[in-house]
This record gives sequence, structure tokens and C-alpha cells, in this order.
Amino acid sequence: MEKLTIEHVFGTIIPAWYNVVFRDPEVEKLALERGEICRNCENITPIIRDVKKGKKCGLCGCPIMGLVRSRDYGCEGKKWPR
Ligand code: SF4
Repeated sequence: MEKLTIEHVFGTIIPAWYNVVFRDPEVEKLALERGEICRNCENITPIIRDVKKGKKCGLCGCPIMGLVRSRDYGCEGKKWPR
């Protein structure tokens, strides 16, 4: 899990959520490919236990929606690159 630093927040997390809000076709294509891998991954888990909507990666703890749209953050399970 990446340490939560100012650089990580402003350099990775905020840009990823920017991409969630303001959809870019290139990022969306990447997000679809990554999302498909995450959907079939044994590490995917609900953000809130027993609630089906909203998933996170069990390795890094990041919500999948933002994670797959991050240009700078790779899969901690090395299933897809940065
Ligand atoms: S980011 Fe990687 S390890 Fe995490 S759920 Fe997706 S494929 Fe699995």
C-alpha cells in the first residue's frame, strides 16, 4: 500500500478522481481494460462489507473506480501496469 503523503494525494489520488468526474476517452479505454481484470481478480472486495455496490482493491485499499483511472498508480498485484 502506497504511503499517504501530500505528493501521493495531489499527484495520484486527486488526478484519478478528476478522471472519474471528467471523463477522457483515452482514460476510459484504459479503465475498461483494467476494470475487466479487477472484476475477475481474487483481491477485489466490497468497500463496505455486505454491500454489493462499490468495490475496492484488497491489496492497496483503493476504490476500483478511481484506481483504474489513475495514470500513475499501478496494480499492486502486478496484474496490470501503470
Ligand atoms: S488493482 Fe490489481 S490486485 Fe487490485 S483488484 Fe485490481 S487487479 Fe486485483
